[in-house]
Amino acid sequence: AQHFLARAKAHQNLGAFVALNEGATLAQAQAADARIAAGTAGTLEGVPIAHKDIFVTKGFPSTAGSKMLAGYQSPFDATVVTRLADAGAVTLGKLNCDEFAMGSANENSAVAPVGFDSPAPVRNPWDSHRIPGGSSGGSAVAVAARLAPAVTGTDTGGSIRQPASFCGITGIKPTYGRASRYGMIAFASSLDQAGPMARSAEDCALLLSAMCGPDPDRDSTSLDVPAENFSAKLNDSIEGLRIGIPAEFFGEGLAPDVRAAVDAALKEYEKLGAQLVPISLPRTELSIPVYYIIAPAEASSNLSRFDGVKFGHRAKNYTDLVDMYKKTRAEGFGDEVKRRIMIGTYVLSHGYYDAYYLQAQKIRRMIADDFQNAFKHCDLIAGPVAPTVAWKLGEHGNDPLADYLADIFTLPASLAGLPGMSVPAGFGESGMPVGLQLIGNYFHEARLLNAAHRLQ
Ligand code: GLN
Repeated sequence: AQHFLARAKAHQNLGAFVALNEGATLAQAQAADARIAAGTAGTLEGVPIAHKDIFVTKGFPSTAGSKMLAGYQSPFDATVVTRLADAGAVTLGKLNCDEFAMGSANENSAVAPVGFDSPAPVRNPWDSHRIPGGSSGGSAVAVAARLAPAVTGTDTGGSIRQPASFCGITGIKPTYGRASRYGMIAFASSLDQAGPMARSAEDCALLLSAMCGPDPDRDSTSLDVPAENFSAKLNDSIEGLRIGIPAEFFGEGLAPDVRAAVDAALKEYEKLGAQLVPISLPRTELSIPVYYIIAPAEASSNLSRFDGVKFGHRAKNYTDLVDMYKKTRAEGFGDEVKRRIMIGTYVLSHGYYDAYYLQAQKIRRMIADDFQNAFKHCDLIAGPVAPTVAWKLGEHGNDPLADYLADIFTLPASLAGLPGMSVPAGFGESGMPVGLQLIGNYFHEARLLNAAHRLQ
């Protein structure tokens, strides 16, 4: 813990951490030492793990990257945080992220990183002029720069897989409902899922085994599927594994250098005895409009709780209750969050609900069906995580659509609720990391981790 705390401080220019609490971390580390001495060590005993600041934690501020929650202290821990602590993990600190996890570049955080007086971008350690990806940008950077051995992230539309890919680390989003959402500050509840990000599939398996499992009293969407030992099958042979290659993931928009790295990884799989099977996910393109209707719709509802009454920011000067709501929300939310609240409110409003929201829900079902058709011919699906490597800070300027379009390959699995992961696959022309995306059928995390481990 001391080693990683020192590294976190020495490299605070990367902007990865938004909160450290050395006293709390070292007290937890000492308790872990005592359990090791007593012979009662858990599977992660003493391992320092930092959490994306979407998970609420006691002893550290919980902000979701928003001014709305600046300095907010939660009276309880998220279930994922509790489960990791139960396995012996020591909380190292809280990690920067896009405000309420809305973003693809970690350029939307409104919170000042440790060592800064005002919000500053999170920087990719491979090239500090580039974005780390998002929304779990701080998480990916902490692992890539070795500021933490492993971290938590959340993935609503790609926020674990894409930053893992951009920073050259490994991350997995389990099947929707595998990990409890209790204490994960909500963005889009039907899509939000927690997962680990680490240096290898082996490390991710260890964390995932601790994080998963039913939480019926606290998250009604957590599934009644027992936690698994995800490390058990890591070394299994992948001889004869059928890997589906979706034609739609290799079209025009894919940068040639990303394609080359992905192709090279697929060749490795062939050498290991796997078989590449051409498949089709015909509605891949539609996943962008569908996601950017459903996610904002759910966000507009979830974020209505930030009204200045119960917790978080409250405007100072107001005339009456409605004025207080308005000013609080105008001051507390950043541009991207306001944009989503407006889109969400619009698509849910009378007269537009059928045309947009309901239509999007129908196509979401078709996207899930397309995957089931594909899984008749293959055991897992592989392709790129994102069309390009990490872009330059500010490159997308004020064009949110440029960010949205870059989510094309991660959104389909999110909409279908399928497990997906990113595994390092090499480097692009610019020397930036490229991730290979692996998508499995429901509850096939062990198979994904096995395939990822064999590549590493
Ligand atoms: N980039 C997507 C968005 O902005 C996904 C974010 C996420 O997975 N949290 O909504």
